[in-house]
Amino acid sequence: MDLGIKGRRAIVCAASKGLGKGCAMALAREGVDLVINARTAADVDATAAEIRSATGVKVTAVACDVTSVDGRNRVLAACPEPDIVINNAGGPPPGDFRDWGRDEWIKAIDANMLTPIEFIKATVDGMMKRGFGRIVNITSSSVKAPIDILGLSNGARSGLTGFVAGVARTTVRHGVTINGLLPGPFATDRLKGTYRSRAQKSGKSFEEEYAAGARANPAGRFGTAEEFGAMCAFLCSVHAGYMTGQNILMDGGQYPGTY
Ligand code: NAP
Repeated sequence: MDLGIKGRRAIVCAASKGLGKGCAMALAREGVDLVINARTAADVDATAAEIRSATGVKVTAVACDVTSVDGRNRVLAACPEPDIVINNAGGPPPGDFRDWGRDEWIKAIDANMLTPIEFIKATVDGMMKRGFGRIVNITSSSVKAPIDILGLSNGARSGLTGFVAGVARTTVRHGVTINGLLPGPFATDRLKGTYRSRAQKSGKSFEEEYAAGARANPAGRFGTAEEFGAMCAFLCSVHAGYMTGQNILMDGGQYPGTY
C-alpha cells in the first residue's frame, strides 16, 4: 500500500533506539525526510546514517534532551514546518508513590505530558494552515491498564491522553489528526533493562526471566520495533485522515478487556 506521504517532513523524538527508531525507519521507507533526536550524539548520528543508507531520505540528527526547552527549540529549528510529529521520550522509573516528591512528579510530567503538548502547540497551527498533519504520541499500555509500580508513567501519560482527547477533535477538519500509540511489551533496551532488574530480584537468570515474560504474552513473544513503526507509519498516512483522538494498543493481546 502506498501511504501517500513521500516527500513529507517528520520530527521523530527519542529515535536513536527502540520504538522511536522503529517509527523513524518506517517513515523513511515511505520517503519521509526526518529530523531525529536523542541525547547521546554518537547514537543518534549512527542511527541517522543507518536510515539514510537504508532509504536514501534526508535525515538530520539533533543531539539533545527533548524534555528541555533548549532541546525542543533545536529540534524545531531543524524542522520548523513538520508535516508529521512523533512524540516520544524515555519513560519514568518504577517505584513506590510514597517515595516520590514534587521533583519526581515534575520530571515525569515534563517528559511524558508537557513535552508532547509543547510540540503540539508549536506545530499544529502550521499543519492546519497547510491542510495536512499527523501527530502520534508514543505513550504506553499503562494508559489503558495501569501498572502499579509505574505510577509516574500512569499519571503523566494519562494527563497527555486526556488533553489530546479534546484537542484532536478540533484539528481533524483541517486535515490534522492526533493519536496515541500504546506499546505493551516490545523487545527494546528498555524492556531488557526491566527484565534485568527482575532477574536480580528473583535470583533467576536474565534469559530465564525474559523468555518467561515472552511466553506469558498471548502472542508468545514480545513485539518488535519494526511492527510498532509500521503501525505508526499507517497512522501518519493519507489513509488515516478519519481517525483522530484514538489510543491504539499494540500488546500482542495482553490487555484482557473486551473493549
Ligand atoms: P529505549 O529502547 O530505551 O529507547 C529510548 C530512546 O529514547 C533512545 O534513543 C534514547 O536515547 C532516547 N531518549 C530517552 N530519553 C530522551 C530524552 N530525554 N531526550 C531525547 N531522547 C531521549 O526505549 P523504548 O522501549 O523505545 O521506549 C520508548 C518509550 O515507550 C518510553 O517512554 C517507554 O517508557 C515507552 N514504553 C516502552 C515499552 C516497551 O516495552 N519497550 C512499553 C511501554 C512503554 P538517549 O538515551 O541517547 O537519549
